[in-house]
Amino acid sequence: MRQRHKPWADEFLLENNHLVIPSATEHRQNWQKVFGNDKPIHLEVGTGKGQFLIGMAKQYPEINFIGIEIAKSVIVSATEKVIDSGLDNILLLNEDASDLREIFGENEIAGLYLNFSDPWPKNRHEKRRLTYHSFLEQYEEILDQNGELIFKTDNRGLFEYSLVSFNNYGLKLEEVNLDLHAIDDETNVMTEYEEKFSSKGQVIYRCKARFES
Ligand code: SAM
Repeated sequence: MRQRHKPWADEFLLENNHLVIPSATEHRQNWQKVFGNDKPIHLEVGTGKGQFLIGMAKQYPEINFIGIEIAKSVIVSATEKVIDSGLDNILLLNEDASDLREIFGENEIAGLYLNFSDPWPKNRHEKRRLTYHSFLEQYEEILDQNGELIFKTDNRGLFEYSLVSFNNYGLKLEEVNLDLHAIDDETNVMTEYEEKFSSKGQVIYRCKARFES
């Protein structure tokens, strides 16, 4: 994702620390308190500029949404959009999702989204893929028993790799969709990348999976 140079980003994020929560690990197992209610929490990893999160938060006001994004300039854009939306069921974290168990407690998350994650196509970078088994171990711990993992991508190689990874891990595949936009799913909220790639005619893949207890 292209990042603009925003030297005022630190100041902006500090001013908006009610939305972009600093020191995320301090709130482990207490995220509902940070939201100030007991609604279930859904998490998007690599949230980008926030389009998906905002669309979902509008569609599901009964759910709290958290987006994690490592790139500061990108989360600044997401924050601006969340402010404009006026929604109160979104929080953002400017964090590396390399160990989500430090940020979230066991069963704290009710749904997890991976949207257009970086494909890391070289074999030597396999461990960086967000669907590599070490990430699945984390997701299993933070997701509650009914929690679903929903993965969308335009990248056929990453999709195939992820299906194998999910299967090898023992996840139950509940949906494998090889052309998401060919079906009439009115609940689908498009991400920035999804809009970009589908407008170029690329097929969008989606998988829904669950950890079996
Ligand atoms: N999900 C958005 C979408 O579909 O439009 C953005 C997709 S973009 C290809 C992937 C995003 O994931 C980037 O914004 C990147 O900075 C973020 N990202 C990659 N690795 C991450 C990590 N370890 N922790 C948090 N964010 C990460």
